[in-house]
Amino acid sequence: MNEKLLLDNLRCIPDWPIKGVNFRDVTTLFKSAECVKEICDDMYELYKDKGITKIVGIESRGFVMSSALAIRLGAGIVLCRKPGKLPCETVQESYAKEYGMDTIEIHKDAINENDVILLHDDLLATGGTMKAACQLVKKFHPKKIYCNFIIELESEFPNARKEFGDDIEVSSLL
Ligand code: 5GP
Repeated sequence: MNEKLLLDNLRCIPDWPIKGVNFRDVTTLFKSAECVKEICDDMYELYKDKGITKIVGIESRGFVMSSALAIRLGAGIVLCRKPGKLPCETVQESYAKEYGMDTIEIHKDAINENDVILLHDDLLATGGTMKAACQLVKKFHPKKIYCNFIIELESEFPNARKEFGDDIEVSSLL
């Protein structure tokens, strides 16, 4: 894995969206053909033998590499979205954010008990978003759930991945 290539191409924006936050801007990875290939190849190596049937992408930066990897793995893609964006009946999960609550949802018929699920998002910070996504996907009783990020802010949030449950295997590229 070429970690240097990805780190050299990752842009950090200080004090965005609010003062004190150092925002990791993955759009500079996504615009580079070399980085997109590197991320896709690295994720493929991690999951090629896991029997993944569907990748659940978290809105919206999680959609990008979910699509690329799904083609490589021969898997389907499920959209995990904010409320009011999906047109058919959904299953929802609400979770606490720094200020107030947020909700995510998946179409009710998107996952079944025979699925092996890979949940993917661009970045793991506090873990609140992915914890809610894990709880949401567990409601569908798939055979197994894996969880992946391009970036994990481990030194800032060392306990984030512990929140997902012991039964979920977590990995991140950076
Ligand atoms: P968490 O719920 O783990 O605190 O935050 C992760 C969610 O917020 C992800 O969906 C991610 O896209 C977004 N997020 C939070 N901080 C950053 C950041 O520095 N860079 C990017 N690209 N996304 C972030």
